[in-house]
Amino acid sequence: MKTLVLKFGGTSVGNIDRIKKVCKIIANYKKKKTKVLVISSAMSGVTNDLINKSKLVSNNFEKAEYDTLLSTGEQASCALIAGRLNHIGFKSRSWMSWQIPIISEGPHSGARINRVIVKNLNDYLKSGGIPIITGFQGVNNKFRLTTIGRSGSDATAIMLARYIKADECIIYTDVDGVYTTDPRQYKNAKKIKKISYDEMLEMASLGSKVMQPTSVQDAKLNNIDIQVKSSFINKSGTLITGSSKTFSNQIITGISSTKNDAKITIVGVKDRPGIAASIFKPLSKNLINVDMVVQNISLNGKETDLTFTIKSEDLKKTEKIIKQNKKLSYKKLSFDKDVSKVSIIGVGMISTPGITYRMFQALASKKINILVISTSEIKISVLISAKQVKKAVAVLHKEFKLD
Ligand code: ASP
Ligand code: MG
Repeated sequence: MKTLVLKFGGTSVGNIDRIKKVCKIIANYKKKKTKVLVISSAMSGVTNDLINKSKLVSNNFEKAEYDTLLSTGEQASCALIAGRLNHIGFKSRSWMSWQIPIISEGPHSGARINRVIVKNLNDYLKSGGIPIITGFQGVNNKFRLTTIGRSGSDATAIMLARYIKADECIIYTDVDGVYTTDPRQYKNAKKIKKISYDEMLEMASLGSKVMQPTSVQDAKLNNIDIQVKSSFINKSGTLITGSSKTFSNQIITGISSTKNDAKITIVGVKDRPGIAASIFKPLSKNLINVDMVVQNISLNGKETDLTFTIKSEDLKKTEKIIKQNKKLSYKKLSFDKDVSKVSIIGVGMISTPGITYRMFQALASKKINILVISTSEIKISVLISAKQVKKAVAVLHKEFKLD
């Protein structure tokens, strides 16, 4: 008998009507003689609301209590789902993380699922029951509740799929799949039928927020097929799977763009070992994420220019850190707040020459100036003026025949 893990996100269980609707979806799988496990998020808005309440009590709310508080969101939605399934004639019950248990490691609100003991769940599945499991949380070795980071229910679903040895994990959300680019920004975006884990990771971390990147990483490590689908309309979704199973004739799978990037250039820094490290060390200490980095070749062998990008919200802090850095001397510091990174992503580029040229040529045809370039095996990114992002996405989408 097939075993399926179904995960429902916050908007999918956002109100009582939605909960009744997802129970119908669950019931349909169950009727097909499948073993079904359900993971649910909190109803949309609930987690944020609980966070706000914690702030009203204390601006330094104790972390363990914070996790206990936030866990209640999922507890409520799971009980409502199980209660509704009982009402329509199915055997079902809710399971909190500690009741299973889902064992986690690491700090409160940033814990990681380490292990899931599936014996009780397996017995319950064999007896024909549908377990409804709280996403986003675990229990630690002190027997306290933990949470695993915002949007963590995806990770719970993947880990459950792994330990229960599920045939597939279906992520139900409010979009009907992964698109070639953001459909709200570009109307010719198309739904991707199949995408590899690596491509999805690039898409996810570059701005397509369909799934939490760490859970895609977990799925890749454990070779778990993920289906992303809408719980609002009955349509086929996107399959996230190993690259050998994806289409080989597609060169570029998707295009993503970022918002709120900033570029910093330090002109005339000394060209000797240790300088780049001395620039980035205080930034990393202050948890500022550096993305693209380019260093020019120095003309005179003495000085060079260094350019890098960060999130614009970190700009002020970064400026201060650089100016206060006594180990660093330079001629000029310049900033650009209105830049965006546009990337083309596809495993097909590994074996296809000329992709870089086609990308640059297409951008040039629209008079789009490239500020910084960075590449990986399956991705080419360019930094451009934020004003030109729409135009860039459109021309690249056409160039690589994604329209
Ligand atoms: N309820 C949690 C959150 O809003 C976890 C989740 O939705 O996946 O972040
Ligand atoms: Mg969510």
